[in-house]
Amino acid sequence: MNCEEAQEWITALVDDELSAQERVAIEGHIAACGQCRHACEQERVIKQQVKLASATMAAPAALRRAIEEAARKPGVWRRARARLKEILASPFVRPVLAVALLLLVLYPLMFPGADENNIALLTLSTHAAIEGGSKILTRVNDPGEIKDQLVRAVDGRFAPMGFDLSMMKLYPVAGFVQRIGGRDVLVTVYQGEGPTVTCFTFLGAESDAPLDAEVFFDDAKRINFYSFSEGDFHAVMHREGELICIMVSKMPAADLLAMVRGKARHS
Ligand SMILES: [Zn+2]
Repeated sequence: MNCEEAQEWITALVDDELSAQERVAIEGHIAACGQCRHACEQERVIKQQVKLASATMAAPAALRRAIEEAARKPGVWRRARARLKEILASPFVRPVLAVALLLLVLYPLMFPGADENNIALLTLSTHAAIEGGSKILTRVNDPGEIKDQLVRAVDGRFAPMGFDLSMMKLYPVAGFVQRIGGRDVLVTVYQGEGPTVTCFTFLGAESDAPLDAEVFFDDAKRINFYSFSEGDFHAVMHREGELICIMVSKMPAADLLAMVRGKARHS
């Protein structure tokens, strides 16, 4: 058993929900691993605190619903959900503890970058699917038609950020709408000579950038550029008004950043 597996089992161990065999496996790991032993002790302390907490505060119904809803969202940490069950099992929790636990549950929602369902990170997987051929593209010859289709698809609420990449011999070849985290994302695929570039446009804020993105401030344009990568794929995000644009490509991160900086409009 490794630490990651142990971490997943610790809650169950403390709750006494493991079979004898599982128990032996995790106890063997904990005996040999100080880090997991510490995590396990922490877990016991928290469980005890929850148990001890009594008749001090009742969570308002609306708040409880919000927590329950948050817990149902995919990507919210499993351990937070386990903890939440304990809160919900008892109608009364100590206020300080309640706030602490709430933060634990809501943290990934307040800071989208901490969430594995981060919209910006998911653009990398969409681009990978396009390059890998698992996302089938309907090719359109007329770039204007691609844009019109995308605008119509979101009832004219916004338009894809259009980039002229013809200098790099890249042209829009396909477009589609992707729904990520409840938001419509307009996707335009540029192909030609050199690596494919995918442009994602959606209504958002700079807080949509992954937490670990590198930030570059362009003094002349007064724009923040966020650079992040996964494997061979690199992404650059920036904001123009209420629109967020993320360009993803296999081209070197520095080249991609230079390209987007060159094309971005002064805010
Ligand atoms: Zn361990």
